[in-house]
Amino acid sequence: MQKTIATISTTKEILDTYGLHTKKGFGQNFLIEPSVVERCAKSAGADGAVIEIGPGIGSLTQQLARVSQKVRSFEVDDRLIPVLKQLFQDEQNIEIIHQDFMDTDIEKHIRELRQQYGKVVVCANLPYYITTPILFKIFESKEPVDMITVMVQKEMADRFVAEVNSQDYSALSVECQYLYDVKRLFQVKRTCFFPAPNVDSTIIQFQRKEPIHLQDKNDFFEFVKICFKQRRKTLYNNIRVLYDNNNKVLQILNNCGFNEKTRAQELSIDQFIKLYKEYRYERESICED
Ligand code: SAM
Repeated sequence: MQKTIATISTTKEILDTYGLHTKKGFGQNFLIEPSVVERCAKSAGADGAVIEIGPGIGSLTQQLARVSQKVRSFEVDDRLIPVLKQLFQDEQNIEIIHQDFMDTDIEKHIRELRQQYGKVVVCANLPYYITTPILFKIFESKEPVDMITVMVQKEMADRFVAEVNSQDYSALSVECQYLYDVKRLFQVKRTCFFPAPNVDSTIIQFQRKEPIHLQDKNDFFEFVKICFKQRRKTLYNNIRVLYDNNNKVLQILNNCGFNEKTRAQELSIDQFIKLYKEYRYERESICED
């Protein structure tokens, strides 16, 4: 396909030609602003292989194929598969896979692409209804990707990049910032989509970092969730459920330089790790008794 897909006229032309309408249930808001699509593809560090989730009618796929060696796109909507295959029949580096991304063997795909292309990144305009599960599937994959560049709802982006002591700082912020350096790239107005959603969007980027080693990162994430369980409560009140003795809770908080009034949103990632290590140490010594 030579023509730029990400315009309102080409989008409508493709939908009309194939007798399609967008499906709200699949979060289908297609990008119709070429400068946004180009900027997103160019920021994605996609000189090796790219995994795309939800190509739609291929607006971002088309630009990704121009900057990378290989694009592997997963689309759940069966109506779009023949459209994508026909539009990209001459593009040898685009592979369309008809599958719900949540059912993919992500580790296998990353391993395979890394072997062949060296570098693997993710780039997508994510369906809003399933943003967090998709990102956590990638975060928790045993085979890591080098970078993730995704368009998400502005409010969701605020939660990922939130800093300590801010209103949006949550277990989600701690978990992803433990694994990645996260930054906002740019904002995208709702008018850049067809149909226009009710909210504006943000493109955020997750750059993998070497996290401080923890024996069991998922256990750490569970601990963080308990710390934030009831935001209006203090850390002391939230983590009390983990101990049978309230004095122990206070002692552990004091060992880390906190008191009974400290709240979870005041703790940096390093402080969460310190508190978690105290908790593990205490838990393991109880098990040994
Ligand atoms: N990339 C296109 C664009 O920017 O115009 C479309 C983005 S649209 C926001 C999200 C796309 O994800 C839709 O094509 C939708 O069908 C697809 N999708 C929704 N849920 C999915 C899932 N679980 N697995 C794979 N694709 C999915």
